[in-house]
Amino acid sequence: MPAHFDLLIRNGTCVLPWGIEATDVGVRNGRIAALGVAADATADATIDAKGLHVLPGLIDPHVHLRDPGDKTVETIPTGTKAAVLGGLATVFDMPNTAPSIVDTERLAWKQDYVERESWCDIGLYVGGTKQNIPELAKLELGRGVCGIKIFAGSSTGDLMVEDDEHLELVMRSGRRRIAYHSEDEYRLQDRKHLFKSGDPYSKHMEWRDEETAFLGTRRLMALASKTRRPAHILHVSTEQELEYLKDFRDLATCEVLVNHLTQVAPDCYDTLKGFGVMNPPIRGPRHLEAAWRAINDGTVDTVGSDHAPHSREKKLLPWPDCPAGLTGVQTIVPVMLNHVNAGRLSLTRMVDLMCSGPARVYGVVGKGRLAAGYNADFTLVDLKRQRRIEDSWIVSPCGWTPFAGMDITGWPVGVIVRGRPVMRDDEVLGAPVGKLVRFG
Ligand SMILES: [Zn+2]
Repeated sequence: MPAHFDLLIRNGTCVLPWGIEATDVGVRNGRIAALGVAADATADATIDAKGLHVLPGLIDPHVHLRDPGDKTVETIPTGTKAAVLGGLATVFDMPNTAPSIVDTERLAWKQDYVERESWCDIGLYVGGTKQNIPELAKLELGRGVCGIKIFAGSSTGDLMVEDDEHLELVMRSGRRRIAYHSEDEYRLQDRKHLFKSGDPYSKHMEWRDEETAFLGTRRLMALASKTRRPAHILHVSTEQELEYLKDFRDLATCEVLVNHLTQVAPDCYDTLKGFGVMNPPIRGPRHLEAAWRAINDGTVDTVGSDHAPHSREKKLLPWPDCPAGLTGVQTIVPVMLNHVNAGRLSLTRMVDLMCSGPARVYGVVGKGRLAAGYNADFTLVDLKRQRRIEDSWIVSPCGWTPFAGMDITGWPVGVIVRGRPVMRDDEVLGAPVGKLVRFG
């Protein structure tokens, strides 16, 4: 009797852990049941992926969906809709909301909320504060929790643990890898007086300079070495850190943002003004080139968007009143595919950075590779499709992207989450099916 599946993906080119192969994929009960399917197999639904690449469902491990917070900027439903339209099957959401996710009650609220309203699967960070250190060991084991996030330097929101004494207590509090925003808060405060309101937006990268980031990372690595607590350094933005972190591979993994691989100073401040202001800042060509070297020599473990929307009105304010943070959850996949087409990285390395990388760093269970038994999460990609990114395409309520006007070759044309098609050809399908990600 021929095999029967819930869903069959026929005629696609699959990015498997061991290489790229033309093969059919059979899905049963939300999981991959077979790679390589007989011609006579039947299915309730069949997707013809002729001419398309079938990737494991892509993961953006760094987004700020601002919920609870200002609904005119972003929410869980709109931000996850943006994610699937942009080709993502999973996002990990940051805790610096209003209020922040820092205790059992707020975590329980969010766990329940995202499983009703999310269009893609979702992992949740819990914020570390000086007050909740005794609870962190329990919080980091919560359902759907991808880890603790520590702001060692100030950014949006009121979460911060900046001093060595408290950072060490945080590191001694539990066991899982901790994700850090690494900028030295003392150096930021010390040098604030050097700048004034109304200075050019490019002053952002002078205030939050290379040494601010590098010093933050040196301090974190000294404490991580002392406590032996694994660290994940988010959005590494300097050549110095990328070199330095090579000596800490036993303890530290790291992320680079798509912005730091794509945009360069001073051009970004001339053209984008406040819409180019983020933390850590977009820097000069030397750091962009170093980031690409670190992509291609394996230093970098994950690529994220750091989707961190603000209203247009606020981004139009003079520096430094315009808040730092850019939208990106809907554009990360097209921009990365464009880099693949430009020859800056291979498609398999992109999948490593956006699937197996996050799975390894955060300990994801059942996602990150096309293999039997894994979640049937897929991103279907047309590597030849050409399209321009426009503000009008962005579904986040704030309605803008720093990549507006960029011509892209390579576009996500379908997303499947645990066997359920959630996006096809720029249309969101059905109802929100997102569930919390499982972590080991
Ligand atoms: Zn962030």
